[in-house]
Amino acid sequence: MSTYTAIKGFKDILPDEAPLWRRIEDAARDVARRYDFQELRPPIAEKTEIFARGLGQATDIVEKEMYSFVDQGEERITLRPEATAGMVRAVLENNLMAGGRAVRVFCLGPMFRYERPQKGRQRQFHQLDVEVFGDPGPEVDAELLAWLTAFLTDLGLGDLSINLNSLGCPECRPAYRRELVEFFSRRRDRLCADCRRRLELNPLRIIDCKSENCRRLVDGAPKMLDRLCRECADHLAALQKLLTAMGLKFEINPRLVRGLDYYTRTAFEVLSNDLGAQSALAGGGRYDGLCRELGGDDIPGIGFALGLERLALLLKEKGAPAEAGPDFYLAVLHESALEAAFRLAESLRAEGRRVAADWRPGSLKSRMKRADKAGAARVVMLGEDEIRRREAIVRDMRTREQSSLDLKPFLA
Ligand code: AMP
Repeated sequence: MSTYTAIKGFKDILPDEAPLWRRIEDAARDVARRYDFQELRPPIAEKTEIFARGLGQATDIVEKEMYSFVDQGEERITLRPEATAGMVRAVLENNLMAGGRAVRVFCLGPMFRYERPQKGRQRQFHQLDVEVFGDPGPEVDAELLAWLTAFLTDLGLGDLSINLNSLGCPECRPAYRRELVEFFSRRRDRLCADCRRRLELNPLRIIDCKSENCRRLVDGAPKMLDRLCRECADHLAALQKLLTAMGLKFEINPRLVRGLDYYTRTAFEVLSNDLGAQSALAGGGRYDGLCRELGGDDIPGIGFALGLERLALLLKEKGAPAEAGPDFYLAVLHESALEAAFRLAESLRAEGRRVAADWRPGSLKSRMKRADKAGAARVVMLGEDEIRRREAIVRDMRTREQSSLDLKPFLA
């Protein structure tokens, strides 16, 4: 036990877990390359105002979950609770849209939300965030869903469900929103306390409320899908056609919403059916009004965020392949072999081999046990005898065969 513990909800990713995380990150970078996306690494903190505007005041994140503080220069600062707002800020500030080219970017890294920690839910967690700015779709919407599917399939999670919805646009949504407020106002008594508040602030969010009563009410409520304007309906139809052309299966889910005004048209969620119970891995959508909200031009955008903790859990439960151990394990059995062992290790490492070593002299038995535990491919035994004979013994740990290695180049 140590005197200090990590902050509640913040977790170490330990050396035996890191290979899985690297596998996830490598897969993301590889898919990004194949789909012609570039990496953008914004800072993990921004001015608080960016998230307040970028997420909307009436969200749980902004109201309750942000890690905010005032710095020594009286600046109000927040550790990012999500990536999109900072990405938009970076794209606008660095003028990445110059020349009218669409910006296709991704970001991997930690996010911070003051939530109640539980399995798969932390206060520092990690997301893969993929965004496209300057392309109104629907082609890029289809590409993004293909990106996400390719990524999860590469990691061995091919059994996916895509849920799809359209949230309309400033043309058709205001009238729908009014209709919705009217509908729920007449049934206000039957709404949960949260939804009564949402009715004033963010009525669309009632649609994805988890409470049983609200769900029943939503079943009978008007649906955005039935109120889409011509352009929005065409956008959704074209997207569906492209998904079908690529053989991507999807379901239209009218309960899928992202409750803020600058979200437009496409909204989606990808769930994994691996391991029985469905679990939502990623969610995203189009936010054509966000750049303007953050002080930029009217630039269309679309993106998704995928939680890496949940993905890592799923892959772990599925039994991710173990990482290979060292190529060589040097068992130094006597002091007189130390210098030769060092020269040998340096020479192998310079060739690119992974070398682990037990520098402190000790018994062969304990060395072999440790080499086995580390998953070493070969053990090089270096004792007094070997130095005298100028030949080390190399044991292949899989076949148990032994061979000899000329030590002359490594002796003084
Ligand atoms: P959101 O940004 O809320 O749309 O979340 C996108 C994804 O991030 C979710 O599907 C989760 O997998 C993941 N996520 C969100 N909050 C947390 C958290 N506190 N801990 C771990 N993962 C999270």
